[in-house]
Amino acid sequence: MLSRSIPRLWITFCFYLCCYVDSGEAQNAKEVILLDSKAQQTELEWISYPPNGWEEISGLDENYTPIRTYQVCQVMEPNQNNWLRTNWIEKGDAQRIFVELKFTLRDCNSLPGVVGTCKETFNLYYQETDSEVGRSLRENQYVKIDTIAADESFTQGDLGERKMKLNTEVRIIGPLSRRGFYLAFQDVGACIALVSVKVYYKKCWSIIENLATFPDTVTGSEFSSLVEVEGMCVSDAEEEADNSPKMHCSAEGEWLVPIGKCICKAGFHQKGDACEPCGRGFYKSSSQDLQCSRCPVHSFNDREGSWRCDCEDGYYRALSDPPSVACTRPPSAPQNLVYNINQTTVSLEWSPPADTGGRNDVTYRVICRRCSWEPEECVPCGPNVGYSPAQSGLVDTYVTIVDLLAHANYTFEVEAVNGVSDLSRTQRLFAAVSIATGQAAPSQVSEVIKEKVQQRSVQLSWQEPQQPNGVITEYEIKYYEKDQKDRIYSTVRSKSTSVTVNNLKPSTAYVFQIRAFTEAGYGTYGPRLEITTKEEATGRIYAAIVSSEQNPVIIIAVVAVAGTIILVFMVFGFIIGRRHCGYSKADQEGDEELYFQFKFPGTKTYIDPETYEDPNRAVHQFAKELDASCIKIERVIGAGEFGEVCSGRLKLPGKRDVSVAIKTLKVGYTEKQRRDFLCEASIMGQFDHPNVVHLEGVVTRGKPVMIVIEYMENGSLDAFLRKHDGQFTVIQLVGMLRGIAAGMRYLSDMGYVHRDLAARNILVNSNLVCKVSDFGLSRVIDDDPEAVYTTTGGKIPVRWTAPEAIQYRKFTSASDAWSYGVVMWEVMSYGERPYWDMSNQDVIKAIEEGYRLPAPMDCPPGLHQLMLDCWQKDRAERPKFDQIVGILDKMIRNPNTLKTPVGTCTRYGNKTPDELFLNVGFTQDVMSLGITLVGHQKKIMSSIQTMRAQMLHLHGTGVQV
Ligand code: AMP
Repeated sequence: MLSRSIPRLWITFCFYLCCYVDSGEAQNAKEVILLDSKAQQTELEWISYPPNGWEEISGLDENYTPIRTYQVCQVMEPNQNNWLRTNWIEKGDAQRIFVELKFTLRDCNSLPGVVGTCKETFNLYYQETDSEVGRSLRENQYVKIDTIAADESFTQGDLGERKMKLNTEVRIIGPLSRRGFYLAFQDVGACIALVSVKVYYKKCWSIIENLATFPDTVTGSEFSSLVEVEGMCVSDAEEEADNSPKMHCSAEGEWLVPIGKCICKAGFHQKGDACEPCGRGFYKSSSQDLQCSRCPVHSFNDREGSWRCDCEDGYYRALSDPPSVACTRPPSAPQNLVYNINQTTVSLEWSPPADTGGRNDVTYRVICRRCSWEPEECVPCGPNVGYSPAQSGLVDTYVTIVDLLAHANYTFEVEAVNGVSDLSRTQRLFAAVSIATGQAAPSQVSEVIKEKVQQRSVQLSWQEPQQPNGVITEYEIKYYEKDQKDRIYSTVRSKSTSVTVNNLKPSTAYVFQIRAFTEAGYGTYGPRLEITTKEEATGRIYAAIVSSEQNPVIIIAVVAVAGTIILVFMVFGFIIGRRHCGYSKADQEGDEELYFQFKFPGTKTYIDPETYEDPNRAVHQFAKELDASCIKIERVIGAGEFGEVCSGRLKLPGKRDVSVAIKTLKVGYTEKQRRDFLCEASIMGQFDHPNVVHLEGVVTRGKPVMIVIEYMENGSLDAFLRKHDGQFTVIQLVGMLRGIAAGMRYLSDMGYVHRDLAARNILVNSNLVCKVSDFGLSRVIDDDPEAVYTTTGGKIPVRWTAPEAIQYRKFTSASDAWSYGVVMWEVMSYGERPYWDMSNQDVIKAIEEGYRLPAPMDCPPGLHQLMLDCWQKDRAERPKFDQIVGILDKMIRNPNTLKTPVGTCTRYGNKTPDELFLNVGFTQDVMSLGITLVGHQKKIMSSIQTMRAQMLHLHGTGVQV
């Protein structure tokens, strides 16, 4: 008993008095303590078995802090088995438990008399349970952790030096599956003092790394295992794309291997482990940016945490502009805009704007507007106009605009634009020019229709080109045999949009192309149209032509026969023309080529509208249908047979507006009246000559029905001359006559007989140009107040009409020449009434008897002679209109011929003037003739005297008319 007690006392003593060397390790921040015997001030009250084994002893540590220890030292007794068990330890979320033991152990060698019984180790056990299991201790329920030996034991000598070594041993248990466990210490005969028992597990403590928070994390169960933990971004931070923050908690409770990160959101920047808002005047546009930046030029902000700055007034940011660039504004207008016109093509060139608005993406766009002349109203040019290289997005400072209308007024605006132009609400700045295009040839004739294909002829029709660029006066139809090697072309011309090409070979493929002609020249040919003529039905003529190659006699015969056929055809046409219209018409539509080839090369022939079954078709064949909205009626200027005649303006798209006379068809008209009314347009529409009144078009698809004619400012010639009695030089008067003759030459060349040529039917424009007007069918004369019924039937303007026309209605260009002579007389007498107030009957009689009007006062004899020539009884003797034009031209070129005094005129019939006067009841009392104008009275007196003298003279010389 004693032997046992000595060492115990000694050890006890030792613990109280000795100063052992403790590592003094502070609690590791990674550890979670489950049990620390040192920390407990009160008794531990662990279970010790048997009771004389482990003994709880209070002591002081190196700091003299009281601690609780367990000691055992039964070194003298054999077969020791002393157990000490801790209280139940709840493990929490721990999986891997650390057990740290601090103890001192006595070296057996240093103890005398203990050989064989003294041990220098003890055993460590544990038992897992879900709850406390009471105070009984069953050895077999414990699992051994390890046998613990001291690294350093101490001896007596040590004791003397007070150098007892404290051993620290750490053992690990796990993985544990129950809620808690007990630890047990088995002593088998050693001298031990358990200074402290500490049980803990390890955790990775919450941490902020890369702006992500990682929570407290218990380490894994295995030494080698890493626990992967997802981080949570701190406020105002966001995960970097595809790079979410992660870390690994090691078994040692250390964070390892950070992956990914969080970054501060736009408007925030990083300060330490947090995101702070950008200050005022600063922005951060993206989470990717590290720092907040100062607002760029022309922008500001007065809030914290902005991702961008706002633009100052008048400055903008394009959608594509990053917040880091300065705010900008639209550029100023381009400078030095210059243009160049070539017909209907306009080139524009300019210099860049003085202010690009702070951007380098300036481009240009062109706005094209077509404007009317008066009032200035402009409309967008539309899609028919082409721009090269483009209309907008122009990088270079030039553009070419093509396919403009000829003779049109355009305004072009060139605007510099940049990325913010469309955002700006300020006024557009542009450079502008107004340009009038020149003349241009018409565009292509593209839509050609095969109307009729026969053995030897092809009838074609087509649409006017899309851009006529002027008045189309003619179409040229070019054709050739397709299979002919040398491609000899033939051409025919047509004034209308149809043609019949004759004299073709049967069963032959021809290629046709058509182009239009205006003042500006020919347009380009339209696409080729291939047509094969029909097979010949009878082989006779064809055979004759074929064999004629060998026999010249046959050629002559064939030509003669063909000529006769043509002649007969023409005469037939003439008769038909008469029957329909009462006018002589050389041929019909299909024969016009005959004229080109045999009669009047290059001239079209007048077509009687009455030969059309549908008069409406005739109107639309020859007259352009106008949109009523293009016509502005301004005032009434006269009255026609069918309704009022007004003046107004016509504004066709793409053309200047022009003054026009508008003849209207009064309401309540009959179908016949409508037809007759429009007939004038069908005729006038076929003419195109500077001395023939020009038809602008018709309105048939609206009401009122209208005929629109060029405006002749000075109205009809007779009234005009009367108004300006004696005011013109002879040359001026001859000039007027020359114009009328030229117009008549044109009409007669076309095969048109006017039948009512008189000064009242000549219109005068502001330049004193005279134009033949008043076309129509029978109505012309019905309409003419001068026309009277004759014994031959029908109304005739007797004073102007040739005797053969009065007697047997023989109206020809020669009868027109007679009328022309009367017009000459009217002109030279300033609108005097031919034959003054003689009755129609007397006039007929006087003419029949050879009486002719004397030269008006101051009339050059050459002119009077020309009148007399026109009044030849034999119509074949009368001059043709081209001769008349020639004679007048000569006179104009040699004004001296117009100075010769009156009195040289010859050939005036075979009656004495006295007889004439008596016969016709003519009186010298001019007042009684109802002649009121003083000038006229004088002239008439002079005329009468002259006439008398001339008549006498003629009578004396016996010259026959
Ligand atoms: P009309 O029906 O052709 O006899 O015309 C009646 C009147 O209208 C004529 O006597 C002229 O005074 C006038 N008139 C007709 N056509 C025109 C025109 N193109 N320009 C000016 N006045 C015209």
